[in-house]
Amino acid sequence: MDTGVAFLMYHELQLPGRELCQSDPGYTRYIVSASAFENQIRSLRSLGYQGIDVRQALENSSPKKVVITFDDGCETDLEVAAPVLSSLGFGATFYVTAGFLGRRGYMTEAQLRELCSRGFDVGCHSMTHPYLPDLDDAGLQREIFEAKSRLEQIMGKRVDHFSCPGGRFNKRVVHAVKRAGYRTLATSRPHLNSRSTNPFALGRIAVLCDTTEEQLATICQGGGLWKLNAQRTVLDSAKSILGNSTYERLRSLLLGTRST
Ligand SMILES: [Zn+2]
Repeated sequence: MDTGVAFLMYHELQLPGRELCQSDPGYTRYIVSASAFENQIRSLRSLGYQGIDVRQALENSSPKKVVITFDDGCETDLEVAAPVLSSLGFGATFYVTAGFLGRRGYMTEAQLRELCSRGFDVGCHSMTHPYLPDLDDAGLQREIFEAKSRLEQIMGKRVDHFSCPGGRFNKRVVHAVKRAGYRTLATSRPHLNSRSTNPFALGRIAVLCDTTEEQLATICQGGGLWKLNAQRTVLDSAKSILGNSTYERLRSLLLGTRST
């Protein structure tokens, strides 16, 4: 990770004729189709990139690596992403929302064990997907500590990595994540990660429904991230001024208007 490695953030993948876990515009803008995903991964491979998981990124500093991550624990992690990644020898970290296991569109416990047995790294994405900075101590206990033990019990394996629902975190959240025994915390801040990056503030770049293969190649080289960072700064200021709930209403209103 000397010069900086891009950590890509994927979510549910869309299959033709299959209903998504959620349908609001704030969710669907993060949804990449199964075929686009496969093309993106194959194109990265043809450019010489090797996909790795978060643990491998911490240990390995060789060039031409890209970290593949998924949030939420949707069924398409196992059904669509895993076979594509395996066929190219790519690793990935799947951050799972522990309390969503077994719900429609999300993996079951058995599917999670299957994903783990295929050699993929599984991280934690909280218990019920709330905005963590809004929670009291008991809430943080459930979402950060208990979610970790639930996943570890199901898989019989340590869970070392955590990603924040909605990318929201603050000092209290970081402190709780450290105390719970995680080794890293992944955010949604769009920057590359190098050896000098704080492991409890790892950047990730969201792959969106309209991200092209060319953009992805540029992102992996760290190109264009200043623009994403500038957008993020504006959004972060809006969040702190408006508060999370008002910000969300405004965001879905704007996204909804734009998509119709
Ligand atoms: Zn999420």
